[in-house]
Amino acid sequence: MTDLRYLPDADDVTEFEATVTETGDDYVVLDGTYFYPGGGGQPADRGTLSWSGGEAVVVDARKNHGDVRHYVDAADGDLPAEGTTVTGRIDAERRDRLTRLHTAQHVLSRVVLDEFGAATVGNGLTVDGGWVEFEGADLGDDQVATVERLTNAAIERDLPVQKVERPRSAVEEVVPDGRAQIDAIPDFVDPMRVVEIDDFDVCPCGGTHVDRLGEVGTVRITDRSRSDGVERLAFDVA
Ligand SMILES: [Zn+2]
Repeated sequence: MTDLRYLPDADDVTEFEATVTETGDDYVVLDGTYFYPGGGGQPADRGTLSWSGGEAVVVDARKNHGDVRHYVDAADGDLPAEGTTVTGRIDAERRDRLTRLHTAQHVLSRVVLDEFGAATVGNGLTVDGGWVEFEGADLGDDQVATVERLTNAAIERDLPVQKVERPRSAVEEVVPDGRAQIDAIPDFVDPMRVVEIDDFDVCPCGGTHVDRLGEVGTVRITDRSRSDGVERLAFDVA
């Protein structure tokens, strides 16, 4: 088992030490990690693992039966043996961008739910920007401009963002219909890690997030498309 050390609220740590518990042909498993292993639309972190006598570039990280496999490319020497202490360094710039985009997505989803009653049914992030899919809305140019304006107005409030664990029943009580698909989260997930933006929003999520909304920067809606009743907004932060 790899301890997911970034949970619930250590998602600002980008350098750490850990011990190797398994080494495969192209991956390393650690007893604990701060590398985000991907999920919830957010891609995995990249970075490096270094140890006495070598270094490897981490190109991907993925959950595998309770472990996190750090997939490596271009190792300088052999991969570290079980029991070796390694230093993990996450590509902090890339992580920071994905983090800001992820929190922006939460704000965007909330604004569209509050303003237009549309449910978020999908979302994804890349370093080049993010997208959210909504059902139950038909957003024209004016509405999209409103969404962008209200999203930035919320961010300018610079509200604190808390990442905490809550009992599943408490989460189900406070998360409104259309905000998150809690039913799609397996029953055994209890407690749940939730991202609470002060009194503005709450959503179960395992991703990385800023500590205050002001860190997100300015959100811009970059594209809009529609198919089969699903409205898709692409966005970026700067
Ligand atoms: Zn999320």
